[in-house]
Amino acid sequence: MPVTRLDASQHSVTRDRVDANALDVVTTLKEAGYEALLVGGCVRDLLLGATPKDFDVATNATPEDVRKLFRRTRLVGRRFRIAHVRYERDIIEVSTFRKSSSQLEEGDRHANADGMILRDNVYGTLDEDAFRRDFTINALYYDPQEEEILDFVGGLDDLDERVLRFIGDSRERLQEDPVRLLRAIRFQAKLGFSLDQSILDAANLASERLAAVPPARLFDEFTKLFLSGFATEAWSLVKDSPVRGSLFPATPAQNRFAELAMINTDQRIDEGRPITPGFLIAVLLWHDFEARIHDLETHHNLNDARLAAAQETLLSQREVIAIPRRYSQFANEVWLLQSRLEHRRGRQIKRILSHPRFRAAYDFLLLRAESELADPELARWWTRIQDLDSEGVQGMIDTLPRDARRKRRRRRRRSKSTS
Ligand code: ATP
Ligand code: MG
Repeated sequence: MPVTRLDASQHSVTRDRVDANALDVVTTLKEAGYEALLVGGCVRDLLLGATPKDFDVATNATPEDVRKLFRRTRLVGRRFRIAHVRYERDIIEVSTFRKSSSQLEEGDRHANADGMILRDNVYGTLDEDAFRRDFTINALYYDPQEEEILDFVGGLDDLDERVLRFIGDSRERLQEDPVRLLRAIRFQAKLGFSLDQSILDAANLASERLAAVPPARLFDEFTKLFLSGFATEAWSLVKDSPVRGSLFPATPAQNRFAELAMINTDQRIDEGRPITPGFLIAVLLWHDFEARIHDLETHHNLNDARLAAAQETLLSQREVIAIPRRYSQFANEVWLLQSRLEHRRGRQIKRILSHPRFRAAYDFLLLRAESELADPELARWWTRIQDLDSEGVQGMIDTLPRDARRKRRRRRRRSKSTS
């Protein structure tokens, strides 16, 4: 395919829409005699009239060359080595032109028996670099000095048609890297584009192969998919696809709770409120957690069953997705607080209200109530009590149903006599 070059008069991208730090990286590399261009999501998003999330630079300078030019550079990634150039607030990713695996000699390929690429560090030229990228719309380059767009793979046509198409054979590209299926879904959700039929045809096989992807990489993709402001759409695409079973084997497809949590997450992002992967993990695994409590309850007392169920649920999910400890801890705390919110014990109320995870546990309860997984009246009670001063709080505690309070006293007395 011959390269298409669009000059400034033929496309809508202007230099002033490019991040100043990314411009600095490109200029510095060029002044040192290297080739350097913007590439990937930023060019795609600029052409679509959207604001890019980040700006990536491609160059023929090696990561080591880049490090020599920029004081604050870190080389990261084993499978795929790139330079991170640090500026005050952000990081510009600089990747060296690479060949695609099909362009490599046998001896340079680093793949496993399934054809999955393990390392991808053989450098190449600009046009070779275009062909190793995933989708045609992600392989567009912008030279900010010449103000020129370069297209080696037909990405401009696919942008017009709003379609995600792999460069080359979909099956092969998914075999090299099954995570590309998650990327396809991510861009589908984010951009509202459709998937080329050949991607849909290869989706089942690629989903199965996700099992071979390192769990830490799947955690990264999980956050990009569901914590970037288009979770509602992403979940609606994932829930009925084989990807759900591969990523969340224990999460039901029919899942109003998950749907509402995704809507809620998108809203929070839109309003600039904080979000954490721990919350969505707690939601997606809630049904599994409850089922396990039920199973364990026959051998344990309820409290021990809860603790054990939380452990088991998280451990089993961790076999697929490496959930960092702070997030599994978060889910754990939110789950265990649910029963304390349900069985309101007079003496505990004030402690619960000042628990560092109270807010998250309360939000979780609200969503449960909305999904008919908890009593809406209970949720309203916790909504009301938060706005009261300590006298008001005491008033609400005093009007709690008597049996809840009596049970507490009985239990306390019993524990005293046995100790
Ligand atoms: P976003 O808007 O989410 O940043 P992006 O397209 O920039 O989207 P990145 O993950 O930042 O996505 O990757 C930058 C570019 O690197 C992509 O546009 C694509 O060209 C290339 N790329 C990233 N991951 C892969 C992959 N797994 N296989 C092939 N090319 C990839
Ligand atoms: Mg990017």
